[in-house]
Amino acid sequence: MAESELVDVVVVGLGVGGEEVAGRLAEAGLAVVGIERDLVGGECPYWGCIPSKMMIRAANALAEARRVNELAGSAEVRPDWAPVAKRIREEATDTWDDRVAVDRFTGKGGRFVRGSGRLDGPNRVRVGDQVFEARYAVVLGTGTRPSVPPIDGLADTPYWTNHQAIEVEELPESLLVLGGGAIGLELAQVFARFGVRVIVVEAADRVLAVEEPEASEVAAEALRADGVEIHTGVKAERVTHDGTSFTVHAGDRAFGGEKLLVVTGRRAHLEELGLDSVGIDCTQRYLPVNERMHAAEGIWAVGDLTGEGAFTHIAMYQAGIVVADVLDHVRRMKGGPDASGTASVVGGAAGAVSAVGGAMSTGGSAVAPGSVPVADYRALPRVTFTDPEVGAVGLTEQQARSRGINVQVGYTDLTSSTRGWIHKAGSAGFIKLVADADRGVLIGATSVGPAGGEVLSALVVAVHAAVPVSQLRHMIYAYPTFHRAIEDALRNLK
Ligand SMILES: Cc1cc2nc3c(=O)[nH]c(=O)nc-3n(C[C@H](O)[C@H](O)[C@H](O)COP(=O)(O)OP(=O)(O)OC[C@H]3O[C@@H](n4cnc5c(N)ncnc54)[C@H](O)[C@@H]3O)c2cc1C
Repeated sequence: MAESELVDVVVVGLGVGGEEVAGRLAEAGLAVVGIERDLVGGECPYWGCIPSKMMIRAANALAEARRVNELAGSAEVRPDWAPVAKRIREEATDTWDDRVAVDRFTGKGGRFVRGSGRLDGPNRVRVGDQVFEARYAVVLGTGTRPSVPPIDGLADTPYWTNHQAIEVEELPESLLVLGGGAIGLELAQVFARFGVRVIVVEAADRVLAVEEPEASEVAAEALRADGVEIHTGVKAERVTHDGTSFTVHAGDRAFGGEKLLVVTGRRAHLEELGLDSVGIDCTQRYLPVNERMHAAEGIWAVGDLTGEGAFTHIAMYQAGIVVADVLDHVRRMKGGPDASGTASVVGGAAGAVSAVGGAMSTGGSAVAPGSVPVADYRALPRVTFTDPEVGAVGLTEQQARSRGINVQVGYTDLTSSTRGWIHKAGSAGFIKLVADADRGVLIGATSVGPAGGEVLSALVVAVHAAVPVSQLRHMIYAYPTFHRAIEDALRNLK
């Protein structure tokens, strides 16, 4: 067995979640080794949220300009991808270079190691020839990678994942998108608005299948208006590439395109993490954790890897819990009280106490004063940044009914609201509320519209804090905002 180096904490994977945990624990005075095999910051800043939202911002600017003809005269729009590609390269990703992020972490006192980390028995992490032994904690934040379906021929073709779609410098003439989930629809609409002929092929009977059916309809209609062809209920059976273009075969149907983007979900790769060396089943789809992000004795996990929702806000939320819990664990190992106690800690963990306090004040999870927060996903918000945006929180109507809840539903069309009517071009959307009639509170909501993701925030508060419907009905909603439609949906609850 290689000789190991003793440190306080080892964090494997410095994506959104891992970087946050490693940085904050280092700032708290612990000796933290952070291991990253690719780019510090992970998927979100380099191939995910940030560059995709830059693309969406540009595509929406084109769409708004095209709406001038309906509202304010005439405008001729000539899309050009070059400024978008330049912005992603130069402003978002530093040409996919993480020097700034590495310095950010080491500037907090962390030690950075580039490479692939894997567990090598309890408390031990191997990266190449180096072995680190963690005195207090190992934190895994290794995320997910695109899950490529086992479709005949696909693996042998030069298909795109989100990486190639985000890095593209010159747009193809046509694009086939396999997968009509959030990422597929966002990118499909962007490319269509820049003049690419886009076809979406989805196996489920509707796009955005995890959201309300009404949301699927509005989103599909909006994309069709942008020229996107959408085919649902189509199970791709074979993919071929003839050197210049792709064909997706499904029964007697065939769909062609110059490029093929595969966005059919993502998968954690537990088999790469040496979990069997600590007795964890690595054939699972995700790494299960408890409400304090514990995966096993001495091991915490954070972010997409946990399967609790593949969102940056989940990774950040969980990171706050991990930081607080690890610091509490350190304090207890040093002989101090647990988080419910009041005595100060011994030795160098004084910074840790204030960091626990910080996590509690900003974490937003279920937390009693003086205790470590625990995860609560009841009010998990999610936004698909198509135009219109699809925002949702909590349970859908179907999910609530299948749990046997006494459900009431309230719906209102945004175009019939004052603001929707004023907005006119691009005003499609709705508010749908799902209430637990017995408890008199909202347990889910969907907000679709030009500002659907922003309007959602009020509904997230309502679900999170279980604000009584009777109180929501007696609030004052500013006129004429989009969020005022919430009042109409509340009135329609039945
Ligand atoms: C196109 C796209 C758009 C998205 N848009 C949004 C959005 O608008 N809003 C939102 O909330 N979320 C969005 N997401 C999701 C978001 O990017 C993820 O939820 C987030 O990045 C998860 O963070 P993470 O830390 O769990 O994992 P990741 O960001 O995936 O980071 C994991 C890191 O671990 C590293 N790693 C893996 N294995 C090892 C190993 N063995 N050793 C060392 N390092 C390792 C990887 O290289 C990676 O850097 C989007 C994702 C995509 C693909």
